[in-house]
Amino acid sequence: MENTIGMIDILIIGSGGAGLTAALSAQKLGSKVLVVSESYPTRSQTSMAQGGINAVLSDKNGDSIQKHIEDTIKASHFLADNKMVTMMCEDAPNAVNWLDSIGVIFSRDNDANIAQRKLGGTKYNRACYSQDYTGLKILQTLFDNSLKNKIPFLYEHYLMDFIIEENAIKGAVFLDIRSGKLKEIFAKSVILATGGYAGIYHSHTTNMYSSTGDAISLCIKYGIKTSNLDFVQFHPTGLKKSSILISESARGAGGKLLNSKGERFVDELLPRDKVSIAIWEQIQKGEEVFLDIRHLGEDFINENLPQERKLAKLYENIDPVTELIPIKPVAHYSMGGIAVDENLMTSLDGLYAVGECSDAKVHGANRLGGNSLLEIIAFGLRVGENAVTFVKSQKELQIKSILLKVQKRIEDIFDIQEDTNFYKQRDELGEVLYLKVGIKREKEDLLKALDFIKKLPKVGLIDKSIVYNNTLVEYLKFQNSLVLAKEMITSSLRIVL
Ligand SMILES: Cc1cc2nc3c(=O)[nH]c(=O)nc-3n(C[C@H](O)[C@H](O)[C@H](O)COP(=O)(O)OP(=O)(O)OC[C@H]3O[C@@H](n4cnc5c(N)ncnc54)[C@H](O)[C@@H]3O)c2cc1C
Repeated sequence: MENTIGMIDILIIGSGGAGLTAALSAQKLGSKVLVVSESYPTRSQTSMAQGGINAVLSDKNGDSIQKHIEDTIKASHFLADNKMVTMMCEDAPNAVNWLDSIGVIFSRDNDANIAQRKLGGTKYNRACYSQDYTGLKILQTLFDNSLKNKIPFLYEHYLMDFIIEENAIKGAVFLDIRSGKLKEIFAKSVILATGGYAGIYHSHTTNMYSSTGDAISLCIKYGIKTSNLDFVQFHPTGLKKSSILISESARGAGGKLLNSKGERFVDELLPRDKVSIAIWEQIQKGEEVFLDIRHLGEDFINENLPQERKLAKLYENIDPVTELIPIKPVAHYSMGGIAVDENLMTSLDGLYAVGECSDAKVHGANRLGGNSLLEIIAFGLRVGENAVTFVKSQKELQIKSILLKVQKRIEDIFDIQEDTNFYKQRDELGEVLYLKVGIKREKEDLLKALDFIKKLPKVGLIDKSIVYNNTLVEYLKFQNSLVLAKEMITSSLRIVL
């Protein structure tokens, strides 16, 4: 049947940094892999990472792996798992050297070593970077290497469902967005690398709007364990109008935060949550808040922060070389996600999760800048190896098709008669989450947000076409956002009660 692919060894869902690293790692060890994602690899959110990737490459400036571990645990509010953090920080030099060896063009210091700079939450220059295009350079290199190694891809395939038999994952079903047909793929193991969910704070997020945590919602549906879903990080410096990120490397280089009176009000290099709260409190007092990098000078900005300058010009219509940048804290990163053990396996046999969709307990309640790119590479390499070991113990099985069940779900959506525009609900949800499930959370606000979601009228789809129906995909993503938002609020309520 042409709509069925099987049986492959490892199905990797998501082609960001985590998915591509896992694919390269597993294929190198001889497994038959397939990478499937809803968009193209270079469009994944990894491409947006600017500041850098943390690794202690030498002890010459007094830094050490132990200090990296301590900074990570401290920033996490002591909620990260010591063993997992140690594993990640110890893997870090190897992860960066591996990226260097496959061709990532890191910025260099005067001795031609990989250059490192300071981000928040540490005293040390620990983040390796490529100007302020670090994620893009990493992603392009991973994709180049994937093509060179003939890793097979399916693009524009949206994850619809898991295939589960005998309490183990056996594959997944996708909507081929181009043709509108469903495709099921059988696999001995599946690695989820579908990214985070801070995009559900629509209009108040640095994330792509497609970052809706789809695989996490599916895990919730099947009772696959998730954890810490209320832990969403707010980045201190989103552009005021557009929420687009101005990287922490701007503060690391000496950027100052000023209020309308021109006063500094916080140590800019504290961990993100503390800086975000300080800015939020200023805004509540009626102050405007600005990032000032004018004193760094045009040459430095052009060399080290070229993208930040372009973004500020394009989206805020100001030039940071001569003007203050208006900013506000915005939703940026989801620390919670699909719970995994130390092998990065979920609570379902054969199903792994890696990167921002997972909760590998390395960030606790607040991620250290530069540790996410590290996690996706260090744990991407590990998860590939672990899945290869797992599939060696698996036999070929006859799996039952679930295509009809998934097809019925789409038909049911098309049958809904209400024509209310769900895009309006999506905007409203973003607003409610930002104001009521934001930086500071009160029980009353959380209950109001939950009530808002419960009272949303049922919506349908006006566009019922089959081929390239992106509205259907956005509709499905919005439904996932609602599932996640509910879980996030319920989880927050458990803490404030
Ligand atoms: C603006 C910005 C700047 C950042 N800067 C830094 C930084 O300097 N340093 C740092 O450490 N971290 C940074 N981060 C965080 C870091 O970039 C991300 O956490 C990390 O790249 C996530 O990688 P990932 O592979 O887990 O997910 P992603 O890169 O988000 O990839 C997810 C993949 O899953 C696919 N997918 C999603 N849903 C579906 C579905 N339903 N069906 C099929 N496929 C699906 C997507 O198409 C994509 O291919 C930044 C984040 C942002 C937004």
